[in-house]
Amino acid sequence: MDIAALRRDTPGCAHRVHLNNAGAALPTRATLDTVTGHLELEARIGGYEAAAEREADIRAVPALVAELLGGRPHEVALFDNATHAWQAAFHALPLRPGDRILTGRSEYGSNVLAYVHAARRTGAEVVVVPDDEHGQLDTAALAELIDERTALVGVSHVPTSGGLVNPVAEIGRITRRAGVPFLLDATQSVGQFPVDVAGIGCDMLCATGRKFLRGPRGTGLLWVREEMLERLEPHVSETASARWDGDRGYTWRSGARRFATWEMNYAAVLGLGSAVRQALDLGLPVIGDRAVALGAALRERIDAVPGARTHDLGRDRCAIVTASVEGVAAEAVKAELARHGINVTVTVPEQSQFDTEVRGVHPLVRLSPHYYNTEEELDRAAEVLAGLARRPQPR
Ligand SMILES: *Cc1c(COP(=O)(O)O)cnc(C)c1O
Repeated sequence: MDIAALRRDTPGCAHRVHLNNAGAALPTRATLDTVTGHLELEARIGGYEAAAEREADIRAVPALVAELLGGRPHEVALFDNATHAWQAAFHALPLRPGDRILTGRSEYGSNVLAYVHAARRTGAEVVVVPDDEHGQLDTAALAELIDERTALVGVSHVPTSGGLVNPVAEIGRITRRAGVPFLLDATQSVGQFPVDVAGIGCDMLCATGRKFLRGPRGTGLLWVREEMLERLEPHVSETASARWDGDRGYTWRSGARRFATWEMNYAAVLGLGSAVRQALDLGLPVIGDRAVALGAALRERIDAVPGARTHDLGRDRCAIVTASVEGVAAEAVKAELARHGINVTVTVPEQSQFDTEVRGVHPLVRLSPHYYNTEEELDRAAEVLAGLARRPQPR
């Protein structure tokens, strides 16, 4: 990778040390120009007319996403965020009283709320699979818990608030053997390292555009395995998802399109396509090797600072690093980093409620480098933490 060239192609690199790629990564100049170019075209010739002019490029986006995930184009639907994509799949799953939803401690906060919401409405039950000694989902416990009552296994590949990478391929082997649907929230993993739906063996997967994929805000995607489509009943029917058959009612459109709505932000869709194309051109194995290595390097630097430490769980860890400085609130650490031009964020306890209940460590400072960051930037972040840790604390 030519890091200097990649940074020159990323306007934000000139202004900030951006260690908030788990929040929203910096887009490339090409992606930025794609989005603004389409907005200008819409303003100049009209929105419908602009979409018609770029129709081939718009149609290519689901195919690019399919290539990224190892799926097929008709198994992909585009959304305005990962939450709507995930909920479209989840709420399409029929649930009966006594059914069980199995999830993990690292599950994303909104997914947990949706499980509880569905459980209240249907009489289904939510069961949290414990972690193993590494702090990842305990696959042996999952295998024990799966039985004829299990209607779904729903897991976050990488949580929003930590560097953990869950053992998803092993989870997929277990769900496939049991014939239980597996819904994978891959919002933090897609774009960060290779995510292959065939290798994982999941049945449904959601992701967002703006995080490690470097797409525009307000984009998301859903992949649904073809064989799974017939087991799902979308909860939104409209003219893009279903076809009116006169007196006879309606028929769902073919493929995952049945989950999408007619209206789209095409500037954002084209921007997502640009981001996915760039990730494919660079290669996810290369992207993943560097992103994960930078995460490990940052963890090492922070753990070497007296008074600072990291909190990431799991045997396999990624580019998300969570940290604390003794005696300094996470928000104050974030503010001090911002004063030095370094972007980070702070974990939100409600976004990972099970993890919060078990460990009680949140809020933590979350630093998330991506492949276009440099070791020198990691040094700068660690220096700011060292400065804070050395400062005499008010009594
Ligand atoms: C950010 C995040 C989401 C939600 O994505 P949106 O695009 O904001 O809806 C879901 N799951 C995980 C693990 C996340 O980190």
